[in-house]
Amino acid sequence: MSAPSCRVCAASLGAADFDDPGPSLTSIRTVLDLPTRVWLCENCGHAQSPDLPELTDFYDTQYRISLDIDGHDQLYENAAGEQVFRTAYQAELVAGLDIPDGAKVLDFGAGKATTLQRLMAERSDLRPHVFDVSRDYTEHWAGWVPEDQQATYALPDGWTDRFDLITAHFVLEHVPDPVAILRELSRCLAPGGRLFLSVPDCGSNTGDLLVVDHLNHFTAASLTRAFTEAGLRIDSLDQASFAGAFIVVATGGTPGTVPARETGALRTVLGDWTAILHRLRTEAPAEPVAIYGAGFYGTLIATRIAGGPRCFLDRNPYLQGHDHMGAPVLTPEDCPADIASIVVGLNPARARTILADTSAWRPEGARLIWLDG
Ligand SMILES: [Zn+2]
Repeated sequence: MSAPSCRVCAASLGAADFDDPGPSLTSIRTVLDLPTRVWLCENCGHAQSPDLPELTDFYDTQYRISLDIDGHDQLYENAAGEQVFRTAYQAELVAGLDIPDGAKVLDFGAGKATTLQRLMAERSDLRPHVFDVSRDYTEHWAGWVPEDQQATYALPDGWTDRFDLITAHFVLEHVPDPVAILRELSRCLAPGGRLFLSVPDCGSNTGDLLVVDHLNHFTAASLTRAFTEAGLRIDSLDQASFAGAFIVVATGGTPGTVPARETGALRTVLGDWTAILHRLRTEAPAEPVAIYGAGFYGTLIATRIAGGPRCFLDRNPYLQGHDHMGAPVLTPEDCPADIASIVVGLNPARARTILADTSAWRPEGARLIWLDG
């Protein structure tokens, strides 16, 4: 494979800075028999992973996030440290933007557009538009988004200079050419219109670096650089509202200054992950094993420990009662009494806070095993 170029600043990149033989995991917990590779760009501070094979097809026909389980949602942590459902919290953040009466709003990479639909429940004056790279979602748009306000595969020419607000919730991390997408969004903003965008912050939620369908792992520096390249100015870059994510509000106009790049910290983090994955493979926890968390981190652990877990423990009611990787997902209170090890599959930066008190449910003989030792 030839050396890749940076997806943000186009600088040539050398050898991968992280290279694990796999298996790899996608953001929707699909296990793929692929290596996990990450490159860091010393020029702009970006971190990136290679294109997935058959990438276009993956989003068109396989990326059915939230389609298979009705009402499925992801648990996130808000600024107050409370567990909240992602779409409700996104809608709350967007509602706080002081959107003008009758504004034309586009949800770009909308999926089912649950966030926009929630917003519309309070703001029926808004004129909703939706876009995605798949037609999987059209039945979810029918009835509340007029057909001429829906688009798939390409943003119509007629949408140039149209929108007072464009939202893109957790989209930009998936795209091979983020600057080209931002230019397209910039084209579709009305004069004075705003872009509200969220992406994972791989510095505060480091497992994001290992998510193979996240081709981009943005830092504050590379995110700002990408917006600048696209002719957009960031008005606010917020790392506090959403644990593990950047929330950006931008407008067209003269770009501001780009913060200093920060690859040193990410290089350390990638070294830590190499050590964590090695330990999971070589130091078997006492059996039977439960994994706390059936999301990305828990699934990653399950792919690495011999024999797999007896069960997962998870607070998300949409995951409970289903099997995952051949093991049941239980509420922590239903943890079997004979479990010897509970491997904590949560963001290592937050895990000890989230599980500060396990006295209400942890069986007496079960030892907690933290990813970071
Ligand atoms: Zn770069």
